[in-house]
Amino acid sequence: MSHRDQAAQLGKKVAVVDYVEPSPRGTRWGLGGTCVNVGCIPKKLMHQAALLGGMIRDATHYGWAIQPVLHDWGTMAEAVQNHVKSLNWGHRVQLQDRKVKYFNVKASFVNKHTVCSVAKDGKETLLSAEHIVIATGGRPRYPTHIEGALEYGITSDDIFWLKESPGKTLVVGASYVALECAGFLTGLGLDTTVMIRSIPLRGFDQQMSSLVTEYMASQGTRFLRGCTPSRVRRLPDGQLQVTWEDLTSGKEDVGTFNTVLWAIGRIPETRSLNLEKAGVNINPNSQKILVDAQETTSVPHIYAIGDVAEGRPELTPTAIMAGKLLARRLCGQSSDVMDYDNVPTTVFTPLEYGCVGLSEEEAVARHGEEHVEVYHAYYKPLEFTVAQRDASQCYIKPGWPLTMWLSDGVPAEAPTAGTGPALPRPQRRRSDSRICSGDQVWGLLRAADADGGHPPHLRRGGGQAAYLQALGPRPHCDGLLRLSIHPCQTKGTRLTCSPPQPDSSEAQSQDAGA
Ligand SMILES: Cc1cc2nc3c(=O)[nH]c(=O)nc-3n(C[C@H](O)[C@H](O)[C@H](O)COP(=O)(O)OP(=O)(O)OC[C@H]3O[C@@H](n4cnc5c(N)ncnc54)[C@H](O)[C@@H]3O)c2cc1C
Repeated sequence: MSHRDQAAQLGKKVAVVDYVEPSPRGTRWGLGGTCVNVGCIPKKLMHQAALLGGMIRDATHYGWAIQPVLHDWGTMAEAVQNHVKSLNWGHRVQLQDRKVKYFNVKASFVNKHTVCSVAKDGKETLLSAEHIVIATGGRPRYPTHIEGALEYGITSDDIFWLKESPGKTLVVGASYVALECAGFLTGLGLDTTVMIRSIPLRGFDQQMSSLVTEYMASQGTRFLRGCTPSRVRRLPDGQLQVTWEDLTSGKEDVGTFNTVLWAIGRIPETRSLNLEKAGVNINPNSQKILVDAQETTSVPHIYAIGDVAEGRPELTPTAIMAGKLLARRLCGQSSDVMDYDNVPTTVFTPLEYGCVGLSEEEAVARHGEEHVEVYHAYYKPLEFTVAQRDASQCYIKPGWPLTMWLSDGVPAEAPTAGTGPALPRPQRRRSDSRICSGDQVWGLLRAADADGGHPPHLRRGGGQAAYLQALGPRPHCDGLLRLSIHPCQTKGTRLTCSPPQPDSSEAQSQDAGA
């Protein structure tokens, strides 16, 4: 969509082909892709609904007299769905305004320049183009080898469109989608269990993942670890009986739920595209389309962006930006390519987790334990004090480019601008090695402070500039390993930093963070 808008604005003749195959449960939605309809947007709104429940509980400590409040799923779902429908409508209007031809049909390749589009009524249309951009995303994976999984389970393609509360829910999986859904279901007062086979949030920093799940458990989410489901059956009263195996003991266990939500990963939408007819190569393991830095596939005039492309972060902003840059290149307006390094991201669990850069595990794997030094700090958001909230999991683990935040919901709970050092100064966790100075790390935090208290993943506008101002230009701090002290003087809430001196770094970093 981003690509098509940009290309049309740049004067190209553009058509967009978008078709949503209903989920196995029959859920359908409109224009705008996963993010708008069954991803970021409804997820964030339901997360917000859950956070509001916590704020209502806090409110009594702040003097509000509140009657017992009950949550009504139907009201929330209708409001969220209406908003999504308004976004669908907005996309259609934009297409018209920009004179982009929209085909609500399913496309597959006929040859290198032509796709065949099939409408709901079976009518076929052939479309030919000079350039073709594939941005077909992915869909949730079903564990079809598990009896009853397809018949009785739902996925993230359905949960946001349920008209009635899912009730007692088993979420199977440990991805961010699994934890986010379990988080808001718990926050809305539903009895929620997460079944995890191995580790939560694979690929994310595991210490931070543990804090995320610990906090969820403290809020009432039940975790079944080291377990895998083997069967789902419907009982006469309509409930779902799930049988699972505990992989450590080998024992079987059984539980009943109203809903089983599979969140065990996503499959790229490449299978029905007939890519072989166009000569577009995929990675046979991931089924994703192989692309180069220019987003070009094995066929020079066919491109792939977003979730369907191999090695790309599965995130909306990167897909949008990649599309815009591609359109500009195709129109000869620019030669800029997308920089996929150090893309910040947030996991919208009840305690939100924002991060950018390497996880500690990755840093150690890449650079060796002896070269990695971690700075960290627990902190208590001001808002937690009056409400007597437990802040045991509010935690920061910074470094460059490793930066992670755990905070409760709102950016205001990052350091608050203008109020001095609202965060404790991070302490060095290991003393046997060095990576960057305490001042550098503190500079990073104060850079966030200077940017209105937004942690890096929530920055707008000049945030990056403040970041670099504090830490110096990136070549001086590449990876976690360029270890140089970086003297920073605090002026009010802002920082001024002189660039690191590479040759003096060794000596200066000896006392870093002490
Ligand atoms: C529950 C959930 C929460 C998420 N939360 C976030 C978040 O908070 N932040 C974030 O950045 N990302 C989030 N994501 C990821 C984000 O939604 C995706 O990264 C993003 O939507 C990818 O965009 P895309 O254009 O590659 O594909 P999609 O948005 O999936 O769009 C692909 C479109 O192509 C259509 N299509 C597929 N095949 C064909 C065909 N043959 N013919 C015609 N049309 C076809 C599809 O129906 C779809 O409309 C979330 C995802 C999920 C599932």
